[in-house]
Amino acid sequence: MDVEDHGAPGRAAAATRRLLDLLDAADARGTFFVLDTVVRDDPALVAELARRGHEVASHGHDHRHLAQHTPVSFRAGLVVARDRLADLLGAPPQGYRAPYFSLTPAAAWAPAVLAECGFAYSSSVLPAWNPMAGWPGAPRRPFAWPGGVLELPVPVGRFGPLSLPFLGGMYLRWLPPWRLRTLVRSWVAESGDGHLWSYCHPYDVDAGEGLVRRQDAGLAGSVMLWLNRGPTLPRLAGLLRGRRSEPFAARLSALRAAAATWQADAAPGVLRAATVG
Ligand SMILES: [Zn+2]
Repeated sequence: MDVEDHGAPGRAAAATRRLLDLLDAADARGTFFVLDTVVRDDPALVAELARRGHEVASHGHDHRHLAQHTPVSFRAGLVVARDRLADLLGAPPQGYRAPYFSLTPAAAWAPAVLAECGFAYSSSVLPAWNPMAGWPGAPRRPFAWPGGVLELPVPVGRFGPLSLPFLGGMYLRWLPPWRLRTLVRSWVAESGDGHLWSYCHPYDVDAGEGLVRRQDAGLAGSVMLWLNRGPTLPRLAGLLRGRRSEPFAARLSALRAAAATWQADAAPGVLRAATVG
């Protein structure tokens, strides 16, 4: 889950705890990418995430697209976010997720900054063209950036002319169940190792909230993000049924062993031969 505030104070924490209860019931553990303002304002929630067995990673210092930063401004915020989590939890976070999956060609400098700041992995690339943010031609499977940071691209599936991150957010709750099942089957077949991962936000599981006009989406976008939140938790429970779920950090060495280094200037989708150990 990307833990960030929405709506009235306290709503995001309550929604996050609803997901925590579902994960407890499914004996599942996951990774929570927490925005620095949430870490600052609600350290008890962050401590609870760790206490209940989940990995706490960073969603950065502010919720802006990476391309709205310079490398210097991004680094400054990232260091603050990293150090606040380290102070709270006793160890720095290993993982980072960019807001809106905004690690795009316009922010190609970001993996080097993550490496400098000691991050082991990022889960910030949407490997397709997308109207919000995407990196067409980026590998769809985990890969390493030249500086060594492992990248875990969000699973995407074809939906008409678009490739959508179907397993999370509003896509998970809007897709017809039969379409979701076929996309999961084809992703598992493509990935070869059966690894799947989903993502969501506190608002995705906050079915009781009234319509809020979001600053980062127009009216139509705000309505899409608001409607139909009820199916999120049942669908996540369905995805977890019969599967084992653990945090990214627990699978890093296996994922890294299978990941090749990708040079962004290589031909689209072409992996360099070097395997990163
Ligand atoms: Zn976010």
